[in-house]
Amino acid sequence: MAGTSELAVDLADLAERDLLRQRRLVDGVQGPEVWLDGRRVLCLASNNYLGLAGDPEVVRESAAALAAGGASAGASPLISGHMTSHEELERELADWLGCEAALVFGSGYHANIGVLAALVRDGDAIFSDALNHASLIDGCRLAHARVEIFAHKDVADLARRLATTPARRRLIVTDSIFSMDGDAAPLEEIVALAERYDAWVMLDEAHATGVFGADGAGLASDRGVGSRVAIRMGTLGKALGSYGAFVAGSRALIELLVNRARSYVFSTALPPAVIGAAGAAVRIARTDSGRRERLWQNARRLHAGLVAGGLEAGELESPILPLILGEPRRALGVARRALAEGVFAPAIRPLTVPRGTARLRLTPIATHDEAQIDRAVEVLVRAAREEDA
Ligand SMILES: *Cc1c(COP(=O)(O)O)cnc(C)c1O
Repeated sequence: MAGTSELAVDLADLAERDLLRQRRLVDGVQGPEVWLDGRRVLCLASNNYLGLAGDPEVVRESAAALAAGGASAGASPLISGHMTSHEELERELADWLGCEAALVFGSGYHANIGVLAALVRDGDAIFSDALNHASLIDGCRLAHARVEIFAHKDVADLARRLATTPARRRLIVTDSIFSMDGDAAPLEEIVALAERYDAWVMLDEAHATGVFGADGAGLASDRGVGSRVAIRMGTLGKALGSYGAFVAGSRALIELLVNRARSYVFSTALPPAVIGAAGAAVRIARTDSGRRERLWQNARRLHAGLVAGGLEAGELESPILPLILGEPRRALGVARRALAEGVFAPAIRPLTVPRGTARLRLTPIATHDEAQIDRAVEVLVRAAREEDA
């Protein structure tokens, strides 16, 4: 085929720089354990924080929605794809977050690339945290506005930039929980700066939806600043165990996005089975606080065990535990040894994380039991020790 040899050169280049990545084959239902390349392993690698992906009620409601609504929404939302089930899910999400309205997007990636470009234009500015998710970075690239990257969680840097910008409309955008470190944005300070400098805040709650707040509505709700965040994005594919994402805010915001967010307008609406699963997951996430408590208990138990074993697990701010190991070779070695003993936790290397901070990214979920967490600790501590021997 034309170009094949050129592509082979590109691939060889990636391999040479230790950057070539390959997919692993996972089978069965996503849960505390999965089948990996044909072996049953303990999974500390998913974002299925509440264990809802395999929940019987979620699966049942998804199947019922599939039977009632068919396999596809058939078209984009502005043509004929916006079904009653989408409308009901949006109402439930808005109610959950205490907003006037919400809009369901095809995925978190869709939401982030669509929203930023829809809200700013020439003469405006976006202020984006240096460690924001790739989808926000791509959203900034698509927006016709000046983009200013402020240092990670550095509110002094953000304030300096806001004070001197000539931009008409100012949009501050940040993850609420950062995906590779599990640390939380300084939300109260950011919201206060936004008010002082007449800016809007867009908050990506991908790793906080269902996880933070008494009813799981996210970090902004938990910190009591929900009403001061103009644009709140959350995902349905992580703690909510389904697929898709949403943006919540004022009625005017949502109406504008319906008209202007290109990733919403020009993409087929989510299929009924996905909406059915998400609807059931939202109801469970809102009301079953025991599930959230088990998630946090598991995170605390895992963190305490790793620290007691002499490992560097950072501070516990969320259920994302970065086990910092330094050089990529060490992280890969520990991951390989852990997997040989049946514990699946991926090694994260530069360029995804800064040099010298290669790590295992560990994510316990609500449906792990204590014995599984204890086994993970034992295996990881031993793997690190043997790797260094
Ligand atoms: C996963 C993630 C997204 C993308 O969401 P998808 O629904 O998986 O496309 C966006 N932002 C953050 C911070 C994420 O972690």
